[in-house]
Amino acid sequence: MYMSSALFTGRPSADLAEEHGQSSELQAQALSFQKEAVALRRSLHRHPEVGNDLPVTREQVLTALDGLPLDITLHQTTSGIAALLTGDKPGPTVLLRGDMDALPMPEDTGLDFSSVNKNIMHACGHDTHTAMLVQTAHMLSQRKSSISGRVLLMFQPGEEGHAGAQFMLDEGLLDVPKHQDGSDSPITGAFALHIGTDLPVGMVGIRGGSLMASSDKLTITITGAGGHASAPHRALDPVPVACEIVQALQTMVTRRINAFDPAIVTVTTIQAGTAYNVIPETASIQGTLRAVSAKTRSNVHSYINQVANGIASAHGLVAEVDIELGYPVTVNDRQFAGFASDVATAILGDQKVVQMPNPVMAAEDFSYVLERLPGAMMFIGGTSPDKNTATAAPNHSNHVVFDEDAMAVGASLYSAMALRHLGVRLT
Ligand SMILES: [Zn+2]
Repeated sequence: MYMSSALFTGRPSADLAEEHGQSSELQAQALSFQKEAVALRRSLHRHPEVGNDLPVTREQVLTALDGLPLDITLHQTTSGIAALLTGDKPGPTVLLRGDMDALPMPEDTGLDFSSVNKNIMHACGHDTHTAMLVQTAHMLSQRKSSISGRVLLMFQPGEEGHAGAQFMLDEGLLDVPKHQDGSDSPITGAFALHIGTDLPVGMVGIRGGSLMASSDKLTITITGAGGHASAPHRALDPVPVACEIVQALQTMVTRRINAFDPAIVTVTTIQAGTAYNVIPETASIQGTLRAVSAKTRSNVHSYINQVANGIASAHGLVAEVDIELGYPVTVNDRQFAGFASDVATAILGDQKVVQMPNPVMAAEDFSYVLERLPGAMMFIGGTSPDKNTATAAPNHSNHVVFDEDAMAVGASLYSAMALRHLGVRLT
């Protein structure tokens, strides 16, 4: 993930400014669990798993949560874990999300806790997210008596393209039972953190509105008629038509999409033909579509159909457009983003909170949760102070190394957002 040109703003509200001194107690509490959190994170890093079936990861998380006053639901369709902490007094529920899956790629960090699973690596820092959410479970369990309401800890698999969050939602993640006194405990807010090497440890980045893009997969198949390369007039050649469509898609993006509500259409493969002297019958194009609003996303879908069908038919051929929907746009509720920003300011100081000018064009399946609940996702810095964020290996690199000090920061933020959302003062 990349965040460009940081703007330093973010004033604490008067209320939170008062609590600034007290928030250090929360950080001290996070640090008291840091040793165990680091050990868990390293063990997860050493034994990474991909997708929605993460048996070893799930077992490690359950062991680390053992003994805490949590109601644990083991999801059936995936390795998802929903852990519910009920405070001593009834009240609403706040959701905190941590993702647990790794990527199918080799690791070349040289860390002594490097992956022992060939071609699987925790290269997006989800091992740190899992460990910091466990750390948060310990912290909030100690504060159970001050909580009026509940905290739902969502340990999700399959963030990296497997829609693990959607599976958990479909399996009833948000069905929080009534309190013992019969009162409801609706989920009134949802928060997620994501570590990234484009910010130093101790800093966070956030924005209201669109935070991350939608991501859809495009396939266009152009069908004509094959023939002899020396007699194109007796065939219907799909190759020049495919080339024309690729060019026209770029023109479409610049001419029909509002520059202030952008889209990306990147064609990544073109396939046609088997021999230099044969006109093939078909050509196919694949690519990715990104947008940062639902409106532009759907416009791009219809414009692609127009462009592909129009060009193909102009030349007497047929185009078939297939758009496989990926994750939707991740949209932070503006009030919740402001709240998260204020909480981060109270915890970290007002120079440490970056108000991101632009969304990130990568995609994230916390978007499914934010379609159902108001909430916010925030990026937290993961680069060590002795390294340069501009040159540090980025997320998804086989060389990426995250600074584990970020975990105490993350656990403090998770805890503070949950406690503040439930009306608990930071003491
Ligand atoms: Zn990630």
